[in-house]
Amino acid sequence: MSFRPRATVHLSHIVANWQAIDQLHPGATTAAVVKANGYGLGAARVSDALSKAGCSTFFVAHVEEGVMVRRTLGQARRIFVLNGPAAGDMRSYREASLTPVLSSEDQVALWTREGRGPCALHFDTGMNRLGLPPAMIETHLDALKKLQPVLVMSHLACADEPDHPLNQAQLDRFTRIANAFPDTPASLANSAGCYLGGAYAFDLTRPGIALYGGSDAPGHVALSPGVTLDARILSVFRARAGDTVGYGATHRLEEDRMLATVALGYADGMPRAGSNALIGYLDGAPCPVLGRISMDLITIDVSKAQAAAKTGARVEFLGPHAKLEDQAARAGTLGYELLTGLSNRVERFYV
Ligand SMILES: *Cc1c(COP(=O)(O)O)cnc(C)c1O
Repeated sequence: MSFRPRATVHLSHIVANWQAIDQLHPGATTAAVVKANGYGLGAARVSDALSKAGCSTFFVAHVEEGVMVRRTLGQARRIFVLNGPAAGDMRSYREASLTPVLSSEDQVALWTREGRGPCALHFDTGMNRLGLPPAMIETHLDALKKLQPVLVMSHLACADEPDHPLNQAQLDRFTRIANAFPDTPASLANSAGCYLGGAYAFDLTRPGIALYGGSDAPGHVALSPGVTLDARILSVFRARAGDTVGYGATHRLEEDRMLATVALGYADGMPRAGSNALIGYLDGAPCPVLGRISMDLITIDVSKAQAAAKTGARVEFLGPHAKLEDQAARAGTLGYELLTGLSNRVERFYV
């Protein structure tokens, strides 16, 4: 028996989530965003499963991620690299048949000079993060069209707030851009953008977090957790009223309690900000984290699950009970950060 924490990646759920998003917009192609090692769950395994399910288009952030996903997928799939090319990357783009997303005038100049093959153009329609200025379609449309882009895209800043006025403003600006490239497929929506209605879908959607079971999907979209994270109990013991728990003695027991210490910590990616806040589930029963999360250990109150509290028993910290977004909120963060933060010490299993 190993005490190492375990992430069970549910590839069948990830495929089902992709299909659920795909069904929202039958007229659009549904891509898969697998950057940051498939949101921490394993880009190769996730891409392979989605490709076999019919997904034809993948997005990564870095060229190195693209090279790795290309090795898994073979030549038939399109892989876009969101952060685009740096000088010196040309050979990797060519050899791995990667499609850069050009997001700055420097990148447009670089690709115009040295690039070979297809590219995508990313316009900033109001997020002020990354993308070409929309005014370029007035000043440089011919030069941009000479690059023969295979996709024009933009990214929504507030898609998770459906009533935010920036959504409509970005939609209007992006529609003008898409109309300037009438023969080029267009893409605007991330996961949350897929829930904003058909106008946002254009030709291609780019869900990421939804594939892994995250983001608060509306009621009619049923997503399943992409991962179950569990860790084993190392020790079960009784602590007395008045005792404190963990570093800094930040939790004081008001009555006698049955506690258990679990082999999981911030070195595995459980944020320390979840001290005195996260909940583990033992046999489905909630067991609150008491005291500070330390590097390798978390102490929980197992009073509600005493029969199951045995050395070696597995406590769920993400999964069907410990919902990603709920757990993230307890730690003051997002599902995105929890998933991508799972460290290499967590052993991945694929089912
Ligand atoms: C990360 C990313 C996505 C996916 O976003 P989710 O919110 O995870 O669906 C889509 N497009 C761009 C440009 C991104 O950077």
